[in-house]
Amino acid sequence: MAQAKRLIVLGIDAISLPLVNRFAQEGSLPYFKRLMEEGAISKALPCLPAYTPTNWATIATGAYPGAHGAGNWDDRSPGDPLDRKPISTFHSRTITAQTIWEAAEKAGKRSLVAAYPGAFPSRLKTGLVIVPLQRGLVSHKILSGEVYSTEEDASQGTSLVLKPAENWNGEIIEPALEGVITVGLGPEAPLTGPAAARAVGATEDGADQAVVTAAPETGAKHPQTAGLHFNILLQSTSGNGFDQLLIAQGKDASSPLARLSPGQWSPWIIREIPSKAGLQSGSMRFKLLELSPDGKRLRLLRSEIYPTTSFTEPESLSEELVEQVGPYIEHSGLPLSLDLEDYQTILEEIEYQVDWHIKAAKYLHETKGWEIYYLHWHFPDSVQHRFLACADPASPIYDAKAAPDCIDALRQAYKLGDRLLGGFMQLCDNETIISVVSDHGHVMDIFYCSLAKRLQEVGLLSYSGGQGSAQRPPGNIDWSQTKAYPHGGAQICVNLKGREPEGIVEPKDYEAVQEEIIDALLDWREPESGKRAVAFALKKKDASLVGYWGKRAGDVVFIYNSGFSWGATKGDVTIGTASGAHHGPQIPTTETDLSSNLALLMMAGPGVRRSFERDYQQLSYARLVDLVPTFCHLLGIQPPIHSQGAVLYDLLE
Ligand SMILES: [Zn+2]
Repeated sequence: MAQAKRLIVLGIDAISLPLVNRFAQEGSLPYFKRLMEEGAISKALPCLPAYTPTNWATIATGAYPGAHGAGNWDDRSPGDPLDRKPISTFHSRTITAQTIWEAAEKAGKRSLVAAYPGAFPSRLKTGLVIVPLQRGLVSHKILSGEVYSTEEDASQGTSLVLKPAENWNGEIIEPALEGVITVGLGPEAPLTGPAAARAVGATEDGADQAVVTAAPETGAKHPQTAGLHFNILLQSTSGNGFDQLLIAQGKDASSPLARLSPGQWSPWIIREIPSKAGLQSGSMRFKLLELSPDGKRLRLLRSEIYPTTSFTEPESLSEELVEQVGPYIEHSGLPLSLDLEDYQTILEEIEYQVDWHIKAAKYLHETKGWEIYYLHWHFPDSVQHRFLACADPASPIYDAKAAPDCIDALRQAYKLGDRLLGGFMQLCDNETIISVVSDHGHVMDIFYCSLAKRLQEVGLLSYSGGQGSAQRPPGNIDWSQTKAYPHGGAQICVNLKGREPEGIVEPKDYEAVQEEIIDALLDWREPESGKRAVAFALKKKDASLVGYWGKRAGDVVFIYNSGFSWGATKGDVTIGTASGAHHGPQIPTTETDLSSNLALLMMAGPGVRRSFERDYQQLSYARLVDLVPTFCHLLGIQPPIHSQGAVLYDLLE
């Protein structure tokens, strides 16, 4: 077998094989088509639950959650003090298994890890880590994007007031209008619009949960001090109404920072941004989304502000990358909205991000060298959360009229994935393995389930006043009346005396309470259809069957049935109708005609079979734990010491 010297792993969040096949067959994904012709593919089994941090940790370590510790979105363990602030499992400190990058370093190979969950802060000596994925603790973002709008409706963005222009330096075309936009917010000004939505922290692992991620030293920084001001000027260059917007610092029309027609982006602007941590150098650009000739309707987007320093390890790389490749963005400045009004702008921003990663990898390969490249690229996950349900005829909110647009929104996201793949294929030589992997797929929800209400209904959980969260224990649990409580979305803990801070269950009753919990889960049915909400539930001692053991594991591990998802339900009802799409709650083998919750593996290069798809009847799906051992086998290095998967020999020559 030919020996591979380099490995490129493009982790694309949530993409599934049915959608790749659909878009590739219609000709939208030429590079995916080529990769499938030149390589081997398999649907892949995510670890339970099909969470993002859980499965990226597996893809980096080859280990099950029991070993890598990222079975939940944070590192909470049963018995933790009630006031302990858990740490996000996007933080490398919480990952308890060795990574492929650490194993490669031992073998003298350098890794470049980009935007990858659990990679930051770096545990590598020679490896390079850039742009940690935003998630609570590990965000470096200075400020979310914002739309400045003349619309009075606050949901349209930050309100912008225009008045006749006066006292400008330089030549201006009269009549002109002027306004001021502020970047960074004073303490008196509440966050509005998209920034507010993000500040509240919409999360993936449950619709009605409290946001509990701690924010110590490296927490997200929302500016609380007086902002930076830009002056804007509207002019009519054609005499047919306003058609141009100038952005200036100070009223100087002779050398503006940008001169924009509708639809145009400004150059990048780098400024010291007032933030909670003091002044921080950040980059931003503006796009004139809309300008009516009478000047009454104006919408101006300011991109997310990302730092120009200290977003890499080593830190010195940051400024070098900004200079050589350009400023980085983590997210579009706009939220994904079902009306698709601004979707093209979002695609433009994400295309910039895709190209940034390609250029950065190429530049660092040429200047510093790397043998292993791991990228996590998140965009398709967000698009599927938003658009998959309306496009899937199996979904209760399927909308035949809107479906073609929703499908096209998905297609455009996958096309950006194809652009990413094409860019990295250019970096491959005949000694390079290139792989596209996802952490899970995505399927629509049919029913929402409130676990907290179910545990209350059967008398296992009690709140002192009002409803509690479905997912995580909020502050108002009445511990003196509680025998069991949720531990993340798919585990439950016994309130065990001697272990839990306010435990009431005697150790001799531990197993009986586990049985009670399992009965409550397995007897839980949607009343109309009679369908069971939960696919299976296991005691902790049996949960190593599905990858759970150790300090952080709950006392019962379960997963929802196909079509059942966590979500808010009305009143005392424990199961209600659903309206979205998820990956985490449902059993990962859930599939519909449109999509699949299974992950995806594609790879090509020396030693890998060509035009080959695994025989699922013979061997079932590849498992995500198998990726690292297989990659290490192809590279001829020893796998990480905690890796637990097997080499996928059937995909190899
Ligand atoms: Zn994911």
